[in-house]
Amino acid sequence: MVIKNIPLKDYADSIKIVLVGTTHPGNIGAAARAIKTMGLRHLDLVCPKEFPSEQAIYRSKAAKDILENARIYQSLLESVKDCEMVIGTSARNRKVPWPVLDPKNASKEINSNVRNNSKVAIVFGREDRGLTNEELGLCNLHVHIPTNEDYTSLNLAQAVQIMTYEVRMSFIGEDNLESDQEWDVDIATSDQTERLIEHMDELMQDVEFYDIENPRKLLMRVRRFFKRSGIDVMEANIFRGLFSTIQKKLDK
Ligand code: SAH
Repeated sequence: MVIKNIPLKDYADSIKIVLVGTTHPGNIGAAARAIKTMGLRHLDLVCPKEFPSEQAIYRSKAAKDILENARIYQSLLESVKDCEMVIGTSARNRKVPWPVLDPKNASKEINSNVRNNSKVAIVFGREDRGLTNEELGLCNLHVHIPTNEDYTSLNLAQAVQIMTYEVRMSFIGEDNLESDQEWDVDIATSDQTERLIEHMDELMQDVEFYDIENPRKLLMRVRRFFKRSGIDVMEANIFRGLFSTIQKKLDK
């Protein structure tokens, strides 16, 4: 069954973050913070070196609840066995190439799987050597966060932040974001923009800014600038006010 508009709280229950073999408890805390800020809540820890830990609690700030509810497993398979989709993140290419997506495209896949009632795990590896080939082999697809080719390895919690951010963006939907944004002033109509462009041309001629016989692409570029800017009525009036004031001074 395809669920269309899934509420954000349901999406949070369909996705979990799995940290495998984390060495530094501070990274677990920082990852918990990343998870909570992006509206997720499920964290699994596979063989953490040190957990529970004061350092993890300290780094989690207001995301202690994520740590308190984290589940601990002895192997990745145990953690993900109920998931329909498992995504492994990796800082480098492996010997046997797997389908690799960037975070945005992987998030689209996650989104459509969650809408089809699947449970999704996003898996992160050890700080020093990532996930083993065996662990990556448990994944349906891999995600690589595009980086500087000479230095591909992000801090673990930062990788979690980027991935969870993209997942959230994909669920919120870019359309919603755009339509949610309110502007305080009406956008200028075509007519108002045309009059602004004409006015600027008039001023440029007054000050002999360009050769009227040969304006080349100047006017088209000025036009493109204003058309592209999505200028609002008040902004247009400010420019026209300025042009008129300059013209008045020139007439004196
Ligand atoms: N030296 C390790 C890097 C581990 S960094 C290696 O070669 O794999 C710890 C974890 O952070 C990785 O296992 C991965 O889950 C995540 N990570 C770091 N950089 C990443 C990147 N560029 N793309 C995807 N995941 C990344």
